[in-house]
Amino acid sequence: MSDEDHRRRIPRTDRLLAHPAVREARERIGDAAIRRIVEERQRAAREGRVPIEEVEQAVVDALRAERPASLVPVLNATGVIVHTNLGRAPLSEGARQAIGAAAGYVDVEMDLVSGRRSARGAGAREALLQACPEAEDALIVNNGAAALLLAVTAVCARASERDRAIPSEMIVSRGELVEIGAGFRLPDLLVTTGARLREVGTTNRTHLSDYEAAIGAATGCLLKIHPSNFRVQGFTSGVDVAALRRLADAYGLPLVVDLGSGLLRPDALLPDEPDLAGALRAGADVVIASGDKLLGGPQAGLLVGRAETIRRLAKHPLARAVRSDKLTLAAIEATLRGPETPVQAALHADPARLRERTEGLAARLAAAVQGPCEVVPHEGRVGGGGAPGVPLPGWAIELPEAMAPRLRAGAVAVVARVHRGRCLVDLRCIPESDDELLLECLIEALGDAGAAPRSAPRGLGSR
Ligand SMILES: *Cc1c(COP(=O)(O)O)cnc(C)c1O
Repeated sequence: MSDEDHRRRIPRTDRLLAHPAVREARERIGDAAIRRIVEERQRAAREGRVPIEEVEQAVVDALRAERPASLVPVLNATGVIVHTNLGRAPLSEGARQAIGAAAGYVDVEMDLVSGRRSARGAGAREALLQACPEAEDALIVNNGAAALLLAVTAVCARASERDRAIPSEMIVSRGELVEIGAGFRLPDLLVTTGARLREVGTTNRTHLSDYEAAIGAATGCLLKIHPSNFRVQGFTSGVDVAALRRLADAYGLPLVVDLGSGLLRPDALLPDEPDLAGALRAGADVVIASGDKLLGGPQAGLLVGRAETIRRLAKHPLARAVRSDKLTLAAIEATLRGPETPVQAALHADPARLRERTEGLAARLAAAVQGPCEVVPHEGRVGGGGAPGVPLPGWAIELPEAMAPRLRAGAVAVVARVHRGRCLVDLRCIPESDDELLLECLIEALGDAGAAPRSAPRGLGSR
């Protein structure tokens, strides 16, 4: 058969586009993506990579597998609760629903009674104030880093042109200049504001007198950062918020406190983790926290504090550049008003119940694959740069290391922990309602090692 005859037999574009699977796919994906799929299969046939009689089926399979967004839901079997690589906090059912409801047109900046413009995200602000009654006012922005940037920029801003000739200084302890991850360092971020870092004390010890000695005409604020992702042990000392408040008052300075994790109030499980209520009671003018760490909500930066300071932040031009979108506002409000979040549930998971679930699953897995399947003690972690060194006692199913990539590549992706040549499956961050699904995934990965993977991804169960 000549090249030309061969080409002529390849199904034509109009014929392929008339297939019912295309109509079905149009509800999810756009014309450009559909044409790309069709043309790629035709090219494959021309180049002999796909037999001509299989082109149509290849197009149908590719269309069915195509998803409008590429993010793949995973079961987090690592035991790390706030897992940065897996999107930090998984949202509560209420927050997921709120995002869906806010996805269309919503009254995010309109009062439906008067038809007039209203304050953006008033509901989320109200919910944050109710959850944190120690705060006089609150503001929600894009993320924790943005909140820190806005707070420092606004409180250090100079009132007059003449004063602006001297850059403001933020006084901060050397023990608190943190790299928060992936090479991002808070000191680098802080100096982009134009204010200067005035470092005081040493890595392990900083005293109130260090702060006081650094105060001068250029001082814009006192800044305290919770070094959330590491711990200095031994000969250490720091200055608490209450003591910094007294110093700030003596010199008429604002006090900014970045807590990172965002516990609303103390948690007995995390004795070293500071909370918003405590920092406000101790006298911070503004306290900063992330929405998607221990608070268990969407990515957001929370700013709570004195009415006058928060008003100043809200009016600063930078506030517009870091404002949060309607989906975030909806999810934060639902998180704050809702029941226990998945993050809190995973944090406070009962070790005895975890053991029961893990042993039950291991027994059924062993029966299914007709081989031994061991359960070992395994410590979970808060993760996300929070509560370093706090172990959370639990259990894991121990498998050979080679299972980890197979589990990640399954029809439902399972991310387990790889540690010292073993693959550890920890149930802490998996909702009980997904235990059956996890068992299926484990059986699939362990059982039919030679079989082809299923092509169409299935959805995760409700959580
Ligand atoms: C995590 C963290 C940040 C950054 O917050 P994002 O929400 O990740 O932008 C800032 N400061 C501290 C102390 C943190 O722990």
